[in-house]
Amino acid sequence: MLKLVSNPPPWPNGARCAVCFSFDFDAESLLHLYYPEDSARRISLSSTLRYGARVAVPRIAAIWKHYGIRQTMFVPGWCIETYPAAVEALLEGGHEIGHHGWLHERPNQLSRDDEEAVLLRGIEAIRAATGKPPTGYRCPSGAFSEHTLDLLLANGFRYDASLGGDDVPYLVEGANGARLVELPSDHSLDDWPQYVNMKEFGWSMPIQSPARAMEVFRADFDAAWEHGGVWAAIWHPFVSGRLARAAAMVELIEYMQAKGGVWFATLSEIAAHVDGLAASGAWTPPVERLPFWPEPVPQLVRPSR
Ligand SMILES: [Zn+2]
Repeated sequence: MLKLVSNPPPWPNGARCAVCFSFDFDAESLLHLYYPEDSARRISLSSTLRYGARVAVPRIAAIWKHYGIRQTMFVPGWCIETYPAAVEALLEGGHEIGHHGWLHERPNQLSRDDEEAVLLRGIEAIRAATGKPPTGYRCPSGAFSEHTLDLLLANGFRYDASLGGDDVPYLVEGANGARLVELPSDHSLDDWPQYVNMKEFGWSMPIQSPARAMEVFRADFDAAWEHGGVWAAIWHPFVSGRLARAAAMVELIEYMQAKGGVWFATLSEIAAHVDGLAASGAWTPPVERLPFWPEPVPQLVRPSR
């Protein structure tokens, strides 16, 4: 087989790839962020989003328990405080709670101070629920700002899972030379393009069958397994926790376990493994430096509209 990844990391116990069914537990944060004036009247939308907290998260936790795996959910701080029973179901299973903003704010639409305030409030919510601060972050809506990396480094985070710059874990380096583990993913591993048709959020995709969606997700898994990558899903309880889709997730877990050589882990465990490899010199992760474009690129000509 032709090698498509030149320098894959060694995974624990000789595993071929690392897998995390990482979810973003957004629930009604999206409703209150986008419709603060009339959220009380949007009952249908609300019920669909609440399904994530009420039905899907306990279901997903039960699936993970059945298969003996511990995974990661990124949870906005407001969701942690609003849905304690769902968070408790995750903690009982030993799953990781990662940071996902306060009310799912988009950091690149905020000032640095506001982004920091949201980050600190989310940290406090996680600390109150779990007894310790989060180690990982996934940016709401992928809206990573020019300040996000510095704020994560200043607040003790060990990894980020918002970017898509490689097939294997890598390091993102800030202007001061400090580095953070990046656990990359891609839109092909997001469940919104497969399943979500919600005009309230400006998102209208033709809804795919679970079999079709799993075909997309499984192709990425098979490639990660073949070439030594990391497979980190960007799924959502209210989307992928619906009955037929949850059943398809069960089939995918069984497919992975039957294939063998898969390291199921929380993203925090994967980041710690990468840190250990880098520290010992056993593997040298790729490095990408931020910011990419500190100044606008000069344009030779300006096209008219
Ligand atoms: Zn989200």
